[in-house]
Amino acid sequence: MTARPGSADTALPTMTPTSPDPVAMPALPGAPYFHWRDGELWVEELPVAELARAHGTPLFVYSASAMRDAARAYQQALAGRDALVCYAMKANSTLAVLELFARAGCGFDIVSGGELERALRAGADPQRIVFSGVGKTRAEMRRALQVGIGCFNVESLAELDVLDAVARELGCRAPVSLRVNPDVDAQTHPYISTGLRDNKFGIPHEQALAAYQRAATLPGLQVVGIDCHIGSQITSVAPYLDALDRVLDLVEQVEAAGIALHHLDLGGGLGITYRDETPPAVQAWMAALLQRLDARGHGHRRLLFEPGRSLVGNAGICVTEVLYTKPGPAKSFLIVDAGMNDLPRPAMYEAYHAIVPVRPRAGTPELWDVVGPVCESGDWLGRDRALVTQAGDWLAVASAGAYCMSMASHYNTRGKAAEVLVSGARSQLIRAREVPSDLWRQERALALDVVTSTRA
Ligand SMILES: *Cc1c(COP(=O)(O)O)cnc(C)c1O
Repeated sequence: MTARPGSADTALPTMTPTSPDPVAMPALPGAPYFHWRDGELWVEELPVAELARAHGTPLFVYSASAMRDAARAYQQALAGRDALVCYAMKANSTLAVLELFARAGCGFDIVSGGELERALRAGADPQRIVFSGVGKTRAEMRRALQVGIGCFNVESLAELDVLDAVARELGCRAPVSLRVNPDVDAQTHPYISTGLRDNKFGIPHEQALAAYQRAATLPGLQVVGIDCHIGSQITSVAPYLDALDRVLDLVEQVEAAGIALHHLDLGGGLGITYRDETPPAVQAWMAALLQRLDARGHGHRRLLFEPGRSLVGNAGICVTEVLYTKPGPAKSFLIVDAGMNDLPRPAMYEAYHAIVPVRPRAGTPELWDVVGPVCESGDWLGRDRALVTQAGDWLAVASAGAYCMSMASHYNTRGKAAEVLVSGARSQLIRAREVPSDLWRQERALALDVVTSTRA
């Protein structure tokens, strides 16, 4: 029987729904770019399930609009200022992601020679790259100088001397900014706090003036700025204002000593919502910083920021398939095909990521520990999660755009997941799933005669 919608004489019986009413789901941290439509999870204008079917799992799915809008929020908050947003690429260093930020007008904050090569490969302007990190090698310094890097954020007196020597060997002057440790408590996880005095990062506040005086005497160096980065996943303005005040105190001391500082780099670290955190909006946070800067008479300075997580964290999810349900007397486990090698944050920091079904089912939720296939008890993605699900379902791990793929490993000889970038109703595979031969490409078969028979 063919229904003729709209004709008055078709009195069709009420259809029995083939699927239950859409299950009401709370907004994801990545909303509005990740959202519910017709009872399932969408990214921009595409159903996530369609991407999972096309590319397999585990699969990272990113929203290009979320990344672009996050960069824009920084740029708009800094409108009218001489400023540069340097994306801290360690958060997510996939080439296409870097290209997106380069096109959005961002510079880059790098922490290794490998990141330098990646940024260049993505078309970054070397002048808009700042090089952070406590352990730069001479080779990394040399390469960065050869390509004309914008600034080295120097983290120790010993590094100053080495950089001076490397620059003089090359017959140039290295642009430097000292990363000072303002000794403020960012009130974040100890592993991601970097601005306290007992921490390996930066030059202690009380040694900073002497370090600048030394830098100013070294012929291979050109002092251009000052830098601080107090930690990560910071969810209030107060630690930033404390750090800014401490840094401005130094700026005034250093300039009183006759050393001009052109720019002020306030680092990254702004937090995102994983669960119920309420970090300040970029606009409000920046307004508070700029107001303090102006009030202290430093509003004319060039400003650099190094955001990572706040540009990409909630622009991505990781889609994983439920392989097995394993109900037990004490704990019930959902064993999924993404593990700590794909998404190391829970294992590493006990981090919380929201986990939702891609196609929610009606029913009574049960409590599950969502765990990966890796042979480690630490291989978990979420604990005590109320879910209605069964083997074969797809789950989405939210807030997976930052420090997930970039921290992924090959542990258990698991290839890295695929990545897809979505813009509107279009998608592009930006990283193909690794196959086993990718994993041993640099290895060599045993050639030494080391085998001795254990048999008589
Ligand atoms: C990691 C890092 C950042 C970025 O931190 P987020 O918390 O991701 O914003 C910025 N600057 C430096 C020096 C870093 O090491």
